[in-house]
Amino acid sequence: MHPKFRIGNGIDFHKLEKNLERPLILGGYKIESEYALIGHSDADILIHAISDAILGSVGLADIGSYFPDTDVNLKNMDSSIILKKAISLLKEKNYKILNIDNTIVCERPKISPHREKIIESLSFFMNLPKDCIGVKATTTEKMGSLGREEGVAVFSTVMVELVS
Ligand code: MG
Repeated sequence: MHPKFRIGNGIDFHKLEKNLERPLILGGYKIESEYALIGHSDADILIHAISDAILGSVGLADIGSYFPDTDVNLKNMDSSIILKKAISLLKEKNYKILNIDNTIVCERPKISPHREKIIESLSFFMNLPKDCIGVKATTTEKMGSLGREEGVAVFSTVMVELVS
């Protein structure tokens, strides 16, 4: 079945730690911070959630099945490679992205000062107009592990259209 429109969602969580060795990267944009997201790759949680949403929209498996975190060759990998792979798999299925919307849940980093730059970066990597990219942020009102600044969560939704 090839419906004209499909949606996908992706969710990701990464630990946040004080770390001056690693950059804090969101959507391919490096944020100046004494904190960093921890992960096997460069831990770009926003790109991971978006990539899973893209893959899910056409019924493909999650990014971990394409880029296993047990693969030593992928250590500190630039996550834009994951995003490009997801987009090329979407293309193979004959679909294109119409828009994406993302919610970042964290106490830190504060997203609003970086929002425009994150959108610009995603626009570049996804070849998608800036007004088709939503980046929003919220906190958990200090509740739970995210509220204690132990990590960050991202929820992404994508809409795709069959290319005729
Ligand atoms: Mg991840």
